[in-house]
Amino acid sequence: MKKTVDFDAIVIGAGFSGLYMLHKLRNDGFSVRVFEAGTDVGGTWYWNRYPGARCDIESIFYCYSFSEKITNNWTWSSRFAEQPEILSYINYVADELDLRKDIVFNKRVQSAHYDEQINLWRITLDDQSVVTAHYFITGVGQLSSANVPKMKGLENYKGEWYHTGTWPKHEVSFEGKKVGVIGTGSTGVQVIPTIAPKVKELYVFQRTPQYSTPAQNRPLPPEYVAETKAKAHELKMLRTQTPMGIDLMPGERSTLEVTKEERLRDFEYTWQKGAHSFVNTYYDIIFDPEANQHASEFIKSKIHEIVKDPEMAKELTPDYYYGARRPILDTNYFETFNRENVNLVNVKKDQIQQITEKGIQTSNQHYDLDMIIFATGYDGITGPLFKIDIRGKGGVSLKEKWENGANVRTYLGLATAGFPNMFMIVGPESATLGNFVAAIEQHVEWISDFVHYARTQVIDIIEANEKDEIQYSKTCKEIADQTLFTKVDSWFTGSNVEGKPKPKGFLIYLAGFHEFFKVSNEIAANGYQGFKLEKSADLVG
Ligand code: NAP
Repeated sequence: MKKTVDFDAIVIGAGFSGLYMLHKLRNDGFSVRVFEAGTDVGGTWYWNRYPGARCDIESIFYCYSFSEKITNNWTWSSRFAEQPEILSYINYVADELDLRKDIVFNKRVQSAHYDEQINLWRITLDDQSVVTAHYFITGVGQLSSANVPKMKGLENYKGEWYHTGTWPKHEVSFEGKKVGVIGTGSTGVQVIPTIAPKVKELYVFQRTPQYSTPAQNRPLPPEYVAETKAKAHELKMLRTQTPMGIDLMPGERSTLEVTKEERLRDFEYTWQKGAHSFVNTYYDIIFDPEANQHASEFIKSKIHEIVKDPEMAKELTPDYYYGARRPILDTNYFETFNRENVNLVNVKKDQIQQITEKGIQTSNQHYDLDMIIFATGYDGITGPLFKIDIRGKGGVSLKEKWENGANVRTYLGLATAGFPNMFMIVGPESATLGNFVAAIEQHVEWISDFVHYARTQVIDIIEANEKDEIQYSKTCKEIADQTLFTKVDSWFTGSNVEGKPKPKGFLIYLAGFHEFFKVSNEIAANGYQGFKLEKSADLVG
């Protein structure tokens, strides 16, 4: 049967992933259409406009590296760029590469169904129009499905409320207001110090205290910028040769092989150095409980040193393994709790019972609030994929195949059996603990090389083998089990979303970017081992 398709590839999302995917495939002569729910490019950085939003990977790495021209033409102002600057950068890239002409904004993809009779993907948009493509590629990110906890009474609340991940474009005023922030993850840790000086009274509703180390953010001097541009190639190499896709390797020594004095000196050094240096002080911090305890104790002592009120310091002190959630970097987070107008509510002890018309009712008290900010994170990793009704062979949905998230199985996090010609950028079980943009670049290049290969070999159907994905998922879990990541609840394990099933596996490949790149490149070099490749010249669209 001869078929016609609208596009060679349809991509969802115009963030870092979708934009680069569009550029790569289009350059290779494929017809591509990107659908984006927002009104402009940016993805995460389009939606996350909350006060204090900035990256936690150094700006010189948190950007594309594929174009010398883009690298040379763009200058970052600070070590960790703020959201408006990152959004400007993404807009600049979109203009430079003339990407907008192939992006449809304000369109949410509702469903994507694979038609195995004629081997194409049928995509339905929120206006019920239908488009078809040979390849279906998701660039929806891991953290784009906002988690607003089901709190009784929210619908009756008369004040303003916002989730940080869908922050409005208009200016939000804090002046003279009593504001409540629920959540103290990476997002809350950025929002709290930023708005504290602006609000009349701030109430932080904390469920789990966080370890956080200083980002040590600072403006970038011109000579440093010139130096990084001169060694752009070397920096690009580091993205693929290091575990986190940045210029850091784990320390060479064990926490346990040094004296107490050396340890304190080393921890103090990496604390002052900032970025993700602290977690990398020694190689065993996220593997060995005893090593971890030394790092944890150091941070705890810092919290008690910084926070003047000993009771508050105690409430802010975590009691689980440091680093086993994504390590948080901050600017003046713990210092903010020394302010007269900042109050801490431990909602594990004093539970939130309901939202009232005027604020938050806990077991012990009512808090009158003009504004509530939900910094409550995301239905991570699988959430953005499950928001779309994705169906593969036999009409089986991704949700069914993955048992609602309890049994996620992928091959390299990029593909999954039963869903031919579908690719996921930064999908579940890919290597993303680190520099997301470096991960995205590698995934996009890997996918576009594969699609290019399929075209040259006249391969029409690409599908991961079930047996290989079972093995890959098993490996992911085995790697994670050697670390402390599986011993702590976090958005990686789905524990932050009420009712979300705990995955049997672990949804991030934790052996590091460098290992992931090696493994995925070897698979490609071996003729895409682990994939079923079917030739069917008649079906080529
Ligand atoms: P998160 O780490 O999942 O934190 C959400 C916070 O909300 C946690 O403190 C959580 O408590 C709390 N929470 C959730 N539901 C609650 C409820 N019903 N009642 C009370 N508290 C509740 O989410 P996030 O802070 O948005 O960060 C998620 C990820 O986004 C980060 O790990 C990072 O990868 C990324 N991110 C990066 C940056 C950056 O680059 N600087 C900034 C922001 C986010 P529990 O801990 O008890 O669940």
